[in-house]
Amino acid sequence: MHGQPRNRLFSLNFRQLPSLALLIGLLAAPSPALAWGAEGHEIVAALALRELTPAARGQVVRLLGSEAMMIHDANWADEIKDQRRDTGVWHYVDIPLAASGYDRRRDCVRGDCVVAQIEYDTRLLTDRGANPQARAEALRFLIHFVADVHQPLHAVDNGDRGGNDVHVSIGRERATLHKVWDVDVVQELGFDTGRTAEGLERGLTPAQRKAWAKGTPSAWADEAHVIAREQIYPAVGGRRSLRLPRDYSAREVAITRVQLAKAGVRLAWLMNRFLNG
Ligand SMILES: [Zn+2]
Repeated sequence: MHGQPRNRLFSLNFRQLPSLALLIGLLAAPSPALAWGAEGHEIVAALALRELTPAARGQVVRLLGSEAMMIHDANWADEIKDQRRDTGVWHYVDIPLAASGYDRRRDCVRGDCVVAQIEYDTRLLTDRGANPQARAEALRFLIHFVADVHQPLHAVDNGDRGGNDVHVSIGRERATLHKVWDVDVVQELGFDTGRTAEGLERGLTPAQRKAWAKGTPSAWADEAHVIAREQIYPAVGGRRSLRLPRDYSAREVAITRVQLAKAGVRLAWLMNRFLNG
């Protein structure tokens, strides 16, 4: 289908393939519509994996089965949405476009948002007495949600479901603004997610690591919200249907590159603190 992520074989490193059955499962899996595409999540997980301490890597192996499963499971939270409908709202937070930032009482009633879920999952991971299956699930959610909270359109709402109701055309392609940011802009980085993650990680400076490896899920949501408000929505101008320039994704990829790198650094930072042996 036009505009969908290409054959996922290209984004997998064969070292990471546990079995042919898994490969077939991956090829058959539907592509997620409401989250960073599969590529975005794989990049964040692969980058974080490179930054983990030996102790945290050991915990990944214990909880998920192998280090490679951290990347494979990065999209698990999207794959279960149909079976576990209550989890759908956990992937984003609807901070109103005009708001100055996240407000738990307004934006996260009953903990049904990505900010509260990251907090919940990190708490569960620190509880060594918790059921191992519950901890494994919390880790899978955490890997996914730390990436989602860095997708600017997962931290904003303008009465348009985070850009899902903003219809755009780019050349001959018809899409939604949300999908363009989930998938198209990420694909500007190429389809070899392992290589992209390696490149992003190698390009990290000590100053970036220091500046990014801190904060809270609500501060990260605020950061994403500012990007949406100041750098993405001005071009929309309140419209529900618009044409974007053909080079839109190429122009915007710098934002996504930084957001994916931040997400990877922060995921590793959380895991190194909460899975430390
Ligand atoms: Zn998601």
